[in-house]
Amino acid sequence: MAQSFDVAVVGAGIVGASAAMALGAAHRVLLLEGESQPGYHTTGRSAAVFEEAYGPAAIRKLANASRAFLADPPPGFAEHPLLKPRGVVFAAAAAGRASIEKALVDALPGTVVEIARREATALCPALDADWLDRALYEKGAMDMDVAAIHRGYLRRFAAAGGTIACNAAVQALKRDGARWRIATAAGDFEAAHIVNAAGAWADEIAALAGAARIGLEPRRRTALVFAAPADAGDTQAWPMVCEIDEEFYFKPDAGLLLASPADETPSPPCDAQPEEIDVATCIDRLETATRLRVASVKRKWAGLRCFVSDRRPVLGPDPHVPGFHWAAALGGYGIMTSPATGRIVAAGVQGEELPADLAAAGFAWSDFSPARLRG
Ligand SMILES: Cc1cc2nc3c(=O)[nH]c(=O)nc-3n(C[C@H](O)[C@H](O)[C@H](O)COP(=O)(O)OP(=O)(O)OC[C@H]3O[C@@H](n4cnc5c(N)ncnc54)[C@H](O)[C@@H]3O)c2cc1C
Repeated sequence: MAQSFDVAVVGAGIVGASAAMALGAAHRVLLLEGESQPGYHTTGRSAAVFEEAYGPAAIRKLANASRAFLADPPPGFAEHPLLKPRGVVFAAAAAGRASIEKALVDALPGTVVEIARREATALCPALDADWLDRALYEKGAMDMDVAAIHRGYLRRFAAAGGTIACNAAVQALKRDGARWRIATAAGDFEAAHIVNAAGAWADEIAALAGAARIGLEPRRRTALVFAAPADAGDTQAWPMVCEIDEEFYFKPDAGLLLASPADETPSPPCDAQPEEIDVATCIDRLETATRLRVASVKRKWAGLRCFVSDRRPVLGPDPHVPGFHWAAALGGYGIMTSPATGRIVAAGVQGEELPADLAAAGFAWSDFSPARLRG
């Protein structure tokens, strides 16, 4: 007989893991992961930055609502702090002036200030003063320990009695009365609720459940690490530098520098791999705006950031399919918003109102519902 649960969460990336933990000990929860280990796809491929001045307004508010958890997690969640000061300089050449103005208007109060060019080049001496026109500074941006955050969610979930099944790709979903029958590569299960946290595959899971797709667009983003030139100084003290229109970014990373051309190439759901053209574009943009020269690339990778048309997440109950819940479309922001998204998804499964702090931040369920995408 199939093992029975209250909730089955599909996908053990950061989004599924945080939702599973938030559902807690009050429910029998099964976390299903298709790969042999959680975190193999986008979660394990991020740039690991927490920024409240990045992404659409809804994302900035979700990051803000997540900060307290990441800065001060519950006792025993992790052995070390999850956040470390980093700061981000948003840098613009003359062509980026309008974007600097817009970013100043859009910013949450107190998150960014404009700084003089000489301040920007003092923070990151590699910036080419001839290229740089204006700069903003988000001092409160942090490096995140993504592996520790993910591990913390999974560990607390398991300690609360949750069950994790890896190598358990969901192959079929069938609604049978008030319950779902779930066929996976690791056997059959039953649950009253499904949480769809399948990352780039979220629309495929919806199709299995008979739910309308949300038009999810996985988009490939490339990253690489390289050694800074010997005369670059103390590179590990630099802030992250992000071109104001996201043409490129770079940041210190474990003794090296991590850089990205901030590409967003549409892709089917897959094990994303970096393309040479994106690596070359990254190096070209970096060498145009800075004095850095990339002698050799030590490591490169790519991951799929997944968006819907309004680039906001899709969270909570599907209005047309009972017992089917969304935890998808977290774009390039899924790690830093995960404490808030987990709580939202758990509230939806429990048939509750939005958590009070998120309602106070101006959110309503309609902001997250897939209904907004279906005309
Ligand atoms: C280069 C890059 C830089 C980034 N930088 C940042 C950053 O600085 N800060 C930030 O907050 N975010 C960043 N992101 C975005 C962040 O990584 C994502 O938003 C987040 O990882 C999404 O998590 P997820 O759980 O939705 O997806 P995933 O981690 O992809 O997890 C989905 C899981 O579902 C599983 N799955 C799929 N289909 C099935 C099935 N049928 N059955 C069972 N399991 C299934 C998959 O195997 C996978 O493990 C970055 C992303 C990239 C690529």
